[in-house]
Amino acid sequence: MAAAALRVGVIGGSIAGCAAAVAGVRAGADVTVYERSDGELQDRGFGIVIPPPLHEELVSAGYLDAAMPTAPVAYRAWVTRQPEGRSAREFARQDAAVTPCNWGLLWRSLRGNVGGARYLRGRPVTAVRQEPDGRAVIRTADGEETYDIVVGADGYKSPTRQVLAPGLRPTPAGYLVWRGTIPLSALAGHPRELELLREAWVTVGFRGGHGIFYLIPAGHRDGARTHGAGDQVIAYAVYGRPPARGTDADAHVRTIAEEHFPDSWADIVARGEHLAMACHPVADVQVPRAARSPLLLAGDAAGVTRPHTASGAVKALQDALCLERALRESASPARALERYADERTAAGARLVELGRRLGHAQVEATPDWAAMGQDEVDEWCRVTLAGTRHYLYGELGQAAHRGERRRAM
Ligand SMILES: Cc1cc2nc3c(=O)[nH]c(=O)nc-3n(C[C@H](O)[C@H](O)[C@H](O)COP(=O)(O)OP(=O)(O)OC[C@H]3O[C@@H](n4cnc5c(N)ncnc54)[C@H](O)[C@@H]3O)c2cc1C
Repeated sequence: MAAAALRVGVIGGSIAGCAAAVAGVRAGADVTVYERSDGELQDRGFGIVIPPPLHEELVSAGYLDAAMPTAPVAYRAWVTRQPEGRSAREFARQDAAVTPCNWGLLWRSLRGNVGGARYLRGRPVTAVRQEPDGRAVIRTADGEETYDIVVGADGYKSPTRQVLAPGLRPTPAGYLVWRGTIPLSALAGHPRELELLREAWVTVGFRGGHGIFYLIPAGHRDGARTHGAGDQVIAYAVYGRPPARGTDADAHVRTIAEEHFPDSWADIVARGEHLAMACHPVADVQVPRAARSPLLLAGDAAGVTRPHTASGAVKALQDALCLERALRESASPARALERYADERTAAGARLVELGRRLGHAQVEATPDWAAMGQDEVDEWCRVTLAGTRHYLYGELGQAAHRGERRRAM
C-alpha cells in the first residue's frame, strides 16, 4: 500500500503510542500523536524487561537507539528462605536471557525516533467517532481532525477500547503487585546478592507470592542521586495478597519482605531507601478484536496481561512492528487493520491466558518453594506453561550454569 497520503491519529503518547507513531512514519504515513499528559512521561518508569531478540530487532529497525542503556543478563535464579532460619537458598537456575530496561529511557528512545510525527503534549482526546466515509474523527478542546486510521494507545483504562468493545472491563486477579526501584547502595552489605544480580534476574519465592529482582540502568529522574557503581538501580516487583483493611497498602511490601523473604533480600526491600514505589491491583482484559477499520488498539488499550508475563511493553512494541508490516504490505488501510487484528488479537489472548496460569501457580496456589530443587522447578514450569513457550522460561532443563549453582547464599 502506498501510505504517503495516509493520515494516522494516535491517542496516547506513551510506549504503545510512540511505537505506533514510529511504525506509521516508517510506513510513510502522516502521523499525529495526542498525549493527555503535559509532563515528562520518562518520570513514570520502573523496570521493564524485554526479550533480547526483540531489543535487537527494534534497534536495527530504528525504533530504539543502540545507545539506550540496558542491563542484559543470561539466566534466572530461583531463591527462597531456608525452612529453618532466615538465610537464602538458591534452588534452581534456568537459561532465560532478558534485556532489562529503564521504562523512562525506553520511552525516551521511542519518543526520540517518532521523527516526522507531530507529538502534541497536554492534548487530551475527548471523543472519537467513525464517519460514514470510513474515516475517523478525533476531537480535542482545540477542535476536530479527520484520519484514515486512529490508533487507540490510551492505556489500561482506554476510552478508545470502549468504542470498539463497549462495556468491556478488566477482570481483577484479587491480589496486588508492588514495584519499586532502589539505589544500588542498598546492596553494599550484600556482595553475594550483588554478584548474583550482575548475572541473573532473581525470583524470590514465598508462601502466597513471589518477588522478581533485576538491575536496570539508572534513569533520567534518578540522575541527581548517587547510586554507586555502574549507574544502575535495583528494580523489583513483588506479588502478594492485599493487607488487612485499614493498613497502608503501599508500605505493605515492606511487611511482606520482613515476614517472608530471606534476611538479605528483606533488607533490600524493607530497609532500602526507595527511589520510586507503587502498588497496583493485578487485573487483565483482552478485546475480542484488536481493530475494526478505521480504529485500531495497541498496547494496554488492546489488552492487559497480568505482569507475571513481563509482556505489556513487549506486546506494545510487537503491535507496532506488526502495524508497520501490515501498512507496508496490504492493499488498503482496511486490509492492513484486518491483518493486524488477526495477528495481534490472538497474541494478546495467549498472553492473558498465560498470565492467569502464572498467577495461579505463583501467587494463588504457591508451591512449597523450600521443598523444591532444579528438577521440580523445571517440571513445575513445564506444567504451568502447558505447551506454550515464553522468553522468561528460556529452554527448561538446559541451564548452562547449573553446575555452578550455589546451594546457600
Ligand atoms: C508491575 C508491572 C511490571 C511490568 N513489567 C513489565 C515488563 O517487565 N515487561 C513488559 O513488557 N511490560 C511490563 N509491564 C507492562 C508495561 O508497563 C505496560 O504494558 C506498558 O507500559 C503499557 O504501555 P501503553 O503505552 O500501552 O500504556 P500507558 O503507558 O498507560 O500509556 C497510555 C497513555 O495514553 C494517554 N492517554 C490516556 N487517555 C488519553 C486521552 N483521552 N487523550 C490523550 N492521551 C490519553 C496517557 O496519558 C498515557 O500516556 C509491567 C507492568 C506492571 C504493572
